[in-house]
Amino acid sequence: MEKILFDSHSHISDEAFDDDRDALIEEIRASGLKYCMDIGSSLKTSMECVESARKYDFCYAAVGVHPAEIEGLTESALYGCLEYFVTEPKVVAVGEIGLDYHYDDGPSKEDQIYWFEKQIKWALNYKAPIAIHSRDADEDTMETLKRCGAFSKERAAAFPPKPSGAPDCRVLLHCFSGSAELARQYIKLGATVSLAGPVTFKNARKAVEVAQAVDLESLLIETDSPYMAPVPKRGERNKPTYVEYVARKIAEIKGISYEEAALSTMKNACRFYGIEER
Ligand SMILES: [Zn+2]
Repeated sequence: MEKILFDSHSHISDEAFDDDRDALIEEIRASGLKYCMDIGSSLKTSMECVESARKYDFCYAAVGVHPAEIEGLTESALYGCLEYFVTEPKVVAVGEIGLDYHYDDGPSKEDQIYWFEKQIKWALNYKAPIAIHSRDADEDTMETLKRCGAFSKERAAAFPPKPSGAPDCRVLLHCFSGSAELARQYIKLGATVSLAGPVTFKNARKAVEVAQAVDLESLLIETDSPYMAPVPKRGERNKPTYVEYVARKIAEIKGISYEEAALSTMKNACRFYGIEER
């Protein structure tokens, strides 16, 4: 099968795959999926992502601590984890990091912002692409990124511009759930937006508007496996090969062929993560 898909955000190290990971890997190898990002969300899962990237040729990794996982975190442990970006050739980004205000009993906003800032600043210092998780925190996420300089002239100068000449600050809003207007603001600042399973859902008005509003060159696709399986697999355990359904939906929304949607988003993801296409 022709390999034209890139799942830009998944968790193949997740325990949901512990019982049949070998079968999953074989399935990926036999599918149209060429590359897959395994994204860390804690010190432990970041380490597991590093292992996946070492083990599987199609797999690349990101390391970072998700806002729900910051309890008990120390600076030395965090920087030790992020250091894999420097020492491991297939660790290509910092993530997923960000803010999640969805749960009332989660870490405080102050604590979340504190560790988000530390990780953004580290990523800016080491010129690492940043994969952001933002849930019910639109304003603070944008504000924190701006305050830390994630969209500064300096940051944009560290990377070649997008094919249209627009700035590329290598900031990715993963599983983007904001409005089309917010997406436009981010793109203007040099960010990239990724859409996941929700764009295929029946009630997906917002995500469809985002797909319409964002130029193809600033769009990535992902599964966020094992969560949020796209239609027609909604409700099942999600897996990276299902990114095909997201690509098909993007093609439909943008009025382009499936192959163009798949190939363009694959090339975008390679460019974003600094992966030289093989
Ligand atoms: Zn994720």
